[in-house]
Amino acid sequence: MQMIYKASCAMASLPCSKVRSGIRVRPGTRQLSLRKGIVYGFMRLLSTPFKTLRGASRTLKVAQFCSVSNMSSSLQIEMVPCLNDNYAYLVHDVDTGTVGVIDPSEATPVIDALSRKNRNLTYILNTHHHHDHTGGNEELKARYGAKVIGSGVDRDRIPGIDIVLNDKEKWMFGGHEVQVMETPGHTRGHISFYFPGSGAIFAGDTLFSLSCGRLLEGTPEQMLSSLRKIMTLPDDTNIYCGHEYTLSNSKFALSIDPNNEALQSYAAHVAHLRSKSLPTIPTKLKVEKACNPFLRTSSTAIRHALNIPATANDSEALGVIRQAKDNF
Ligand SMILES: [Zn+2]
Repeated sequence: MQMIYKASCAMASLPCSKVRSGIRVRPGTRQLSLRKGIVYGFMRLLSTPFKTLRGASRTLKVAQFCSVSNMSSSLQIEMVPCLNDNYAYLVHDVDTGTVGVIDPSEATPVIDALSRKNRNLTYILNTHHHHDHTGGNEELKARYGAKVIGSGVDRDRIPGIDIVLNDKEKWMFGGHEVQVMETPGHTRGHISFYFPGSGAIFAGDTLFSLSCGRLLEGTPEQMLSSLRKIMTLPDDTNIYCGHEYTLSNSKFALSIDPNNEALQSYAAHVAHLRSKSLPTIPTKLKVEKACNPFLRTSSTAIRHALNIPATANDSEALGVIRQAKDNF
């Protein structure tokens, strides 16, 4: 697996689901290459993915090369920072040359990333209809002739939609199976794209590192159900979410779960990364299970901190945690 930092990205502002955290993503593009065979990397705190760094950014010290991992995939994933704190992702099937972009907030940084490698764009995948996830659809579609993919629930709200996918449908991206998971709660038509062969899920604004999306069109019950679907995936699944919110999320999480040692360690790691303007995404499902309060609704410590009675069910607890986060 390779990770490359390069200069790119336009800055603008267009809020989607939550009040701006003030986090600025440094202009940069990260590329992860998940290759067949041997992948070299270094162990990051809490078993985040194996990575090799090179390119423009030399600020992150690669202290230890320690492991080898077999990946059955030739899917490359490249992070494309957009707007203030959004992430779009380019996915490239090396074997077929198929290229997709997930949630292009804006076209320019995506075009720049494609142009650097002289690549076309085959598909535009949208997790939900919000403008900071679809704002680049029309321009990219017009420029490349790419097909726009989204939820059937949002067929009337996703600009330029061509292909409708619904819950549990399997779709082929080049040679890679994609499993569509309906994950409503943030919006009623939210879907997530799971690439089982690559151990990667694009979760949009459903699951963030250390938080979940605001409940703009859904209920706590729906969000809990969506999060539980994601929690059934393997623990080492890489989660690619729509925003770099992790540092501010860590402050809320620590405020209601201050004695969680895994959270303390992860929050310190996140603060270190952000102090160097490095991304905290992808995160690992097992890290989120240990640290994310929205995946820990049965925690007695969290319930005690928020005066959630032991008799409350998990969706009631999630509703209280979400309300506390909204007001944090
Ligand atoms: Zn959104």
